[in-house]
Amino acid sequence: MSTTLLQPLLTIAPAQVLRGRELLVQSGRAIARLGHCPLVIGGNQTLAIVKPQLQPVLEREQLSVAWMSYSPDCSETTLSNLYQAVVQHQADVVIGIGGGKALDTAKLVAHQHQLPVVTMPTSAATCAAWTALSNVYSDEGAFQHDVVLSRCPNLLVLDYGLVQTAPRRTLVAGIGDAIAKWYEASVSSGHSQQTLIISAVQQARVLRDLLFQKAAIALQEPGGETWQEVVDATVLMAGVIGGLGGAQCRTVAAHAVHNGLTHLLASHGTLHGEKVAYGILVQLRLEEIVQGNQLAATARQQLLKFYSAIGLPQTLYDLGLGAISLADLQQAADIACAHSSDIHRLPFAVEPAQLMAAMVSTTAEVRREERGERSEQPAPLPATPHSSPLTPSSTNEVTA
Ligand SMILES: [Zn+2]
Repeated sequence: MSTTLLQPLLTIAPAQVLRGRELLVQSGRAIARLGHCPLVIGGNQTLAIVKPQLQPVLEREQLSVAWMSYSPDCSETTLSNLYQAVVQHQADVVIGIGGGKALDTAKLVAHQHQLPVVTMPTSAATCAAWTALSNVYSDEGAFQHDVVLSRCPNLLVLDYGLVQTAPRRTLVAGIGDAIAKWYEASVSSGHSQQTLIISAVQQARVLRDLLFQKAAIALQEPGGETWQEVVDATVLMAGVIGGLGGAQCRTVAAHAVHNGLTHLLASHGTLHGEKVAYGILVQLRLEEIVQGNQLAATARQQLLKFYSAIGLPQTLYDLGLGAISLADLQQAADIACAHSSDIHRLPFAVEPAQLMAAMVSTTAEVRREERGERSEQPAPLPATPHSSPLTPSSTNEVTA
């Protein structure tokens, strides 16, 4: 056995994280330490709102700023335009401001030029502000692939006041994306013997339990103490788990379903975390259908209650996809089941037909066996611990 092979690079956390209110106007000094010619990347709407506030802040530090939109998407077209923009502006630091796609674009542009990058999330819908990973989409918004980056951002500026201006729905989506960490990491990495991956999986469960407890309260009091803790959970803690788990602690079916759905134009009205949350239900349903996993059935029922309480989508209909054709459903399922898809990290093989069956039955009643009426074939004890949902976090428990 070789012991000299180089282990994967650890990209656990941003070098610096600023948290608080009114941070947008206080971040000039920290940005100036990273470079003098920032290229700011955001969506058109975000830039229109933020530029009047951020421009004087950066000029006060004598920084020469250029502003660019990532429109139409974090796509190859945009990336090559922005690659040129960096060259033309002679940018020496990249600032991403906005939601996940704006931040993913900024991180990727900085990565291509090996420049420092600052992330300023304007919503709590993803942990993109934290992680060393970017998703690339087509110009039309269809998921193409992800890119593993060489480091986490140099500076993350989490301005709660800014995040509070985002629609409620973005935080709900962030909660959906964050709880997926548990359902996916426990399947892909629940048996890992690696210290950091075990740590990531355990923290994913703590994160889920924390959100089960606090999400509804947080949504009732935007800007309040609990709300702030939940924002930390979706933006920061979810990022910590991604950082600790690294590329080996991968997504599974929930994100594969998301990726398939992005290829349907009709899905573009919904957020990443909303599709992923629905994808968790599909993943559990697959475990029920293919594996006869009854703990998955129980977990799904508990999630449905949680989704109802906070407003996460449970069905294709909830995602605005109630009227899609069978051909569209087939297309999404085929893409989600492509050879390279993370869906194949499930401990059993999945065919598109099975996935389609799971996609249309996410709210199905738990089978009779679950109610103790009949159980000829005892379901194998799953490798995936769906135990202890809705209970206080129990960090000493060993996975599976
Ligand atoms: Zn995600």
